[in-house]
Amino acid sequence: MYDISNNFKWNVYDAAVAKKLLELEGTPEAIKYFAEKSEGLTNYGYWFFLSTLWVSYSGYSDLNLWKSLFGSDRPGKKKSLMKPSEVKAYDQLGWFVTAYRAHRKNESDWISYTLNKETAFRFAKERGADSIKEYKIKKRDITALFLRRSEDEIIVLDKGNVQFIREHIAVSEAISISPWNQDNGYICLPLKSNIPDPEHKDWKLVYCPSCGKECWESELARKILKNPNMKSACTMCSLRKGIKVRGENYDT
Ligand SMILES: [Zn+2]
Repeated sequence: MYDISNNFKWNVYDAAVAKKLLELEGTPEAIKYFAEKSEGLTNYGYWFFLSTLWVSYSGYSDLNLWKSLFGSDRPGKKKSLMKPSEVKAYDQLGWFVTAYRAHRKNESDWISYTLNKETAFRFAKERGADSIKEYKIKKRDITALFLRRSEDEIIVLDKGNVQFIREHIAVSEAISISPWNQDNGYICLPLKSNIPDPEHKDWKLVYCPSCGKECWESELARKILKNPNMKSACTMCSLRKGIKVRGENYDT
């Protein structure tokens, strides 16, 4: 079966607006057009288009506009905003939810969080931030749960309703880079024997160029290794090499 709500009923006006929205998709104009035309939409059309625009949009736009559109008291909100699979997942959430956000620099308001810590760290990297914040949120304050971009995203319109718990600092990548100066640097690749089952999807199994043991190469390592002065080695080998660089006499 298609993952479409049974509130779905096609309507000529909805169809005309949908056609224009498809043309504007991915541009900041789409949500403005939606806001202009929204009054004549069916309830289902309103919520369905709004959620589709939100998950397909990836640029900057007026947060207050999104807040007022998501905040509408039109009926059918939950079941039309979320797909049936998302409603099911939403219903399974506990009374309190732990969620994370990678804040942008100087950010003063926001409505989106992720339930997934790894996802939050991925956003932090994209936004040039080195930490994420953890919040405790009451389920009843959650407007929607979106699973569509595999971001486990929740929308909470009023940040005054969420409770800050703690900050998490991204250290994992910083410590996986061994001493690296201009002409002699080693990227340390974690050994598979230490981390048999990593959670990072970008990690690729490779062989240590020195000892041949299986180890993991991350996206970050691949980027750094484009520099011809950088070499890679497993954790043990790069430790040994690091020690040798400081002038001690270890076998490599
Ligand atoms: Zn090695």
